[in-house]
Amino acid sequence: MNFTIDEELRKRLAGIRELGRTQIRPLGIEADRAGKPVDPDHPFYRLLLKLGLGRTRWLGGEDPTHDPARRRTPASQHESGGVVDRRPAGPSLTGVVLSEELAYWDRGVAVSFPGPGLGEPPVLSMGTPEQKERFLARFREPDRPRWGSFAMTEPGAGSDVAAIRTTCKRDGDHWILDGDKSFAANASRADWIVVWATADASQGRAGHRAFVVERDTPGLGDFKIEKKMGLKAYESTSFTLRHCRVPASSLLGGDEQSVNAEGSRGAKRAGFKGAMQSFNATRPMIGAMAVGIGRAALDEAAAFAREHDLGGDSRVRDRLERTRRKLRVARLLCWRAAWLADQQQPNMVEASMAKAHAPAAALDAAVLGMELLGEVGARGDHLIEKLFRDVKAMDIVEGTGQIQRIVIARQLVGLPRE
Ligand SMILES: Cc1cc2nc3c(=O)[nH]c(=O)nc-3n(C[C@H](O)[C@H](O)[C@H](O)COP(=O)(O)OP(=O)(O)OC[C@H]3O[C@@H](n4cnc5c(N)ncnc54)[C@H](O)[C@@H]3O)c2cc1C
Repeated sequence: MNFTIDEELRKRLAGIRELGRTQIRPLGIEADRAGKPVDPDHPFYRLLLKLGLGRTRWLGGEDPTHDPARRRTPASQHESGGVVDRRPAGPSLTGVVLSEELAYWDRGVAVSFPGPGLGEPPVLSMGTPEQKERFLARFREPDRPRWGSFAMTEPGAGSDVAAIRTTCKRDGDHWILDGDKSFAANASRADWIVVWATADASQGRAGHRAFVVERDTPGLGDFKIEKKMGLKAYESTSFTLRHCRVPASSLLGGDEQSVNAEGSRGAKRAGFKGAMQSFNATRPMIGAMAVGIGRAALDEAAAFAREHDLGGDSRVRDRLERTRRKLRVARLLCWRAAWLADQQQPNMVEASMAKAHAPAAALDAAVLGMELLGEVGARGDHLIEKLFRDVKAMDIVEGTGQIQRIVIARQLVGLPRE
């Protein structure tokens, strides 16, 4: 494994640190106090575009983001005879390193950043070349802040994605989508939303299909921003699809995925597999973001311990040390899962391990902070209290801790990987 942070990545991290201190954290605190997401027209988003952020990872043409061999120079032979791998971090590892730093400053603001967001992995992994061009090209040099979104969850289907009830029915050269979606990040401001639907609920996951639904599609509407306990700087939005006609060309993967309820098993599990591939890409990133929040909480706890001369208490020192160690372990799990993705190696179990461990470690850090700060933390105007509210969602999004443990355990007892 090579976790080298090269000079270029170091510079990008330093840039985020500066942006974090001057813009991201203050904006996150402001949104938290106001109890609403940062406005899509906020000048901060235009600043991000100027800084080269808010863009797609897709470089155009075939899929170089998924082909490390085409992006990376080979490892070199060291004088001592060993092979030294000094290649720069691949896109997944770079993504987790930067995500951790962004979340350190404010995870809510980080998720509100323009860009294709969680909608990008399914378009990359399942989209045809034509679909990548159609949906991602606009994010290469965006003329204005643009967002993408991802909508799997429904009021009656969270962990059990097989339970989704949004239906898709073929109608000539269109599909008709009907259903309710909830908690989709940035959905009301998005150019398009990747919507998961079922062609046949009786087939469970095998009936799933994913569509890219453009913003102005008739039948897409009723956007409502949900109330959240934390991470208030970005919107989590519910919406409805009512007889929503989507062109057949917007079915991710193209027409070979279009087999309907009566059709062959040719398309079986294509939609579900696509969702799982997306999660393998995004779970290490969510884990890394949890590490970022945890680090921020640990910094608050340690600063308080220093200011109040608590360092003489071995119980305090012990808890600070243990928390730091857990966060380091969590970071390594995230980096390993991302490194495997960059090597095009299976990483389902590692991605779940990262996602199962990191939010728990980060929650420990926030709990430690709350306990050390005591009354100061409980008053509700200290950063530690906001971090405590922000961190819980990290265990929930992209599959809860319990679900990750199921994924890991299935492999241990020899059950199929799904
Ligand atoms: C801040 C936030 C942002 C989100 N963003 C998005 C988004 O952008 N797009 C999107 O599609 N969704 C999003 N979600 C939804 C998220 O993916 C779901 O909340 C999550 O999958 C859990 O589903 P649920 O809330 O319905 O809980 P449930 O599935 O109802 O689970 C309730 C509890 O039961 C446990 N449980 C469930 N099944 C089992 C089992 N088999 N064994 C053991 N325990 C089990 C769960 O772990 C959980 O503790 C977001 C959620 C939050 C909180």
